[in-house]
Amino acid sequence: MSSHSNSPVAELAGRVDAVGGGRGAISLRNVSQSYGSGDAAVTAVGPVDLDIPPGEFLVLVGASGCGKSTLLRLIAGFEPATQGDVEVSGGQPVPGITSGVVFQQPRLFPWKTVGGNIDLALKYARVPKGERARRRDELLTRVGLDDTADRRIWEISGGQQQRVAIARALAGQTSLLLLDEPFAALDALTRERLQEDLRTVSSDLGRTNVFVTHSADEAAFLGSRIVVLTSRPGRVALDIPSTLPRVGVGADDLRGSPEYAALRAEIGAAVKEAAAA
Ligand code: ADP
Ligand code: MG
Repeated sequence: MSSHSNSPVAELAGRVDAVGGGRGAISLRNVSQSYGSGDAAVTAVGPVDLDIPPGEFLVLVGASGCGKSTLLRLIAGFEPATQGDVEVSGGQPVPGITSGVVFQQPRLFPWKTVGGNIDLALKYARVPKGERARRRDELLTRVGLDDTADRRIWEISGGQQQRVAIARALAGQTSLLLLDEPFAALDALTRERLQEDLRTVSSDLGRTNVFVTHSADEAAFLGSRIVVLTSRPGRVALDIPSTLPRVGVGADDLRGSPEYAALRAEIGAAVKEAAAA
């Protein structure tokens, strides 16, 4: 994907309803989530207090089982929190409305084409029929999938399928994108490419992103802000802004920089310490 700054892309960015008026902002107040009851009750996450302003690329990082996915589900509105308040864009989160979600597995409709999967998302987002083909092509260009609209899902690679899932989430035009270890199942090279593209896409679009990972590398590379969670129940152990540049620097230069190495080491140490605590 090499054409991020071309005009169709800029036009697409201009139509995203992302910035202004607190849209995409997240507020978590004393939030925790428990499952089961009585002696069998398990607190998965919390209590957590977090304020995420619009446009932030927040990476939630922590050991497996610490409650990252649970917290993301609360922000998506898939389930209500057992305690505390979750606010997105100034109100209650509504699945499919206040955020787009990308999971570890692409979860596409296998009987539809690549374009068909995007069309469905555009239809669901109430994009008028006459505009859908153009929007679909713009989205596919944005995720580096030009000329694949007519391909079947099983004909494309796992990395390409995950790109379709990201395009589908972007189709919703929500001001908030939630991503739960979306690159964990991919090979290392594909993962790095997708990380680079997501980093560029997000700084172009000005959306709020919450990205869950257990990888310190991924967190350091992607985050404008990094929050490390303790072991279960996950609470905030470290909350740091990244000083790495978000535009005007190549991915290889970034990955090779001492600033990146230092940030990655700081996150890695915090994750280890939090998991041991
Ligand atoms: P992570 O995404 O960080 O790996 P999860 O949020 O998936 O962690 O899970 C955190 C903890 O909550 C785990 O111990 C898990 O078993 C438990 N948990 C998550 N969802 C449920 C559920 N629906 N019912 C019971 N326990 C759950
Ligand atoms: Mg998880």
